[in-house]
Amino acid sequence: MTNDFRHQFWKQQIQTSMIVCVGVVAAAMAMIWISTYDLDMAIRIRGVILAAGISGILAPLGSAYAIRQNSRHLALHLQYERLANSDDLTGLANRRCFNRRGAARLASAGRSQTALLLVDIDWFKRVNDMHGHEAGDDVLCHVAQTLIHAAPDGALIARLGGEEFTVMCEISGPAELTRLAEKLRRATEATHIIYHGEVIRVTISLGLAIARPGDTLSALLSRADKALYGAKDHGRNQFSVAA
Ligand code: GH3
Ligand code: MG
Ligand code: MG
Repeated sequence: MTNDFRHQFWKQQIQTSMIVCVGVVAAAMAMIWISTYDLDMAIRIRGVILAAGISGILAPLGSAYAIRQNSRHLALHLQYERLANSDDLTGLANRRCFNRRGAARLASAGRSQTALLLVDIDWFKRVNDMHGHEAGDDVLCHVAQTLIHAAPDGALIARLGGEEFTVMCEISGPAELTRLAEKLRRATEATHIIYHGEVIRVTISLGLAIARPGDTLSALLSRADKALYGAKDHGRNQFSVAA
């Protein structure tokens, strides 16, 4: 959730509480004024001042309590939202979040083209088999970080599951897409992790697809998936572009 959202939340809470406070004080004063119409003017004025003083203290206290409760609910809501949309291990967007935000991106694509890069770690099972599952987890986090650093700003990067990731972004054309795929591939190949003193290197294969007008996210994913099979078939550590 953005800072803009938090700013809006606090602005709305403070505005609402000010309106409520002013309303409560005005209502209390009016009630005393009307209900004491048959009394002496000095008594009426004292009553109105007393009503303003008491309601002027109680209303802000009540509002502050309500704001505190609302901010706690907001914090809980944000925490649930983060848990529901992010991958526990890597912190990237999860499949559910990718499906929602990816579809929204496709629907709102402007003049530039939307590209999907489906990324799969090569021979990842061997990493688990040779170094253990924990080392495999570290590799997944490492690849996630590599994608974050090498992908363009604003790209939607997600872990779809297992050792499969997606990068979705706007591109100017096929040449930019292949440049990006090569950048991600090289960045992964060039880095390594050290797990309990052992160097672990992995490579990735990528399937690339560019959205066509009217494409659904699943159609785009399925083309990228076919291309990924091609990259695997041709020897891995490379990319392949969907027909
Ligand atoms: P390929 O090059 O054909 O993609 O081979 P691969 O070994 O990468 O693919 P395969 O589908 O045979 O194996 C994927 C492995 O990923 C199997 C599974 O145990 C492992 N895996 C899936 N999720 C996780 C995870 O969260 N952590 C770890 N450590 N391993 C995982
Ligand atoms: Mg794999
Ligand atoms: Mg796989």
